[in-house]
Amino acid sequence: MVPPLCVRCGQSLEAWGENALGAGLCPFCRVTPPAYEAARAWGRMEGSIRSAIHRLKYRRDVSLADVLAAQMLAVVEREGWQVDGVVPVPLGPARLRERGFNQAALLAFPLALGLRLPYWGQVLVRWRETRTQVGLSAAERRRNVAGAFRVVREEPIMRKTVLLVDDVMTTGATLDAAARALKKGGAARVYALVAARAVLRAP
Ligand SMILES: [Zn+2]
Repeated sequence: MVPPLCVRCGQSLEAWGENALGAGLCPFCRVTPPAYEAARAWGRMEGSIRSAIHRLKYRRDVSLADVLAAQMLAVVEREGWQVDGVVPVPLGPARLRERGFNQAALLAFPLALGLRLPYWGQVLVRWRETRTQVGLSAAERRRNVAGAFRVVREEPIMRKTVLLVDDVMTTGATLDAAARALKKGGAARVYALVAARAVLRAP
């Protein structure tokens, strides 16, 4: 991403010009602060990163998960996030059956190993099936995932700082909804990390 970045969601402030630069926040985060403390991506959803994620997600090339996780680990170290454990953004049961695996979990597990932290794969569930976010506007995305997540095991995350992991973020609506659920379930802080961020255009 082209710096400076929004301190919360991590998207480039470049597109918004001078107004955004002073506050350090993009217009989205200024109007509706997300539930996570910060979100960062290893790269942009384009070129070789995009093909790696597509190969992982749609062609089950799971060996790529370790490669991506290693790069994401470097982001955690660079940001200096002090986290207690790693939670993948869960898929709903129907999507999981259809795909056979959760790509976020394939990234979160090696990431937890690399960080020598607990992997909390059974803490958060997507209890309401959501339709794909592809093609939806920012407001539709927020509505689509609002209340979709729920913590089913509170004890591991109670008063802890959670690293929430997904493959891709676009507007951050999914990460926001998942972070909101984690905090409702007792987490003190949530940092969100994805392999790649879709590049947003200024409205
Ligand atoms: Zn922002």
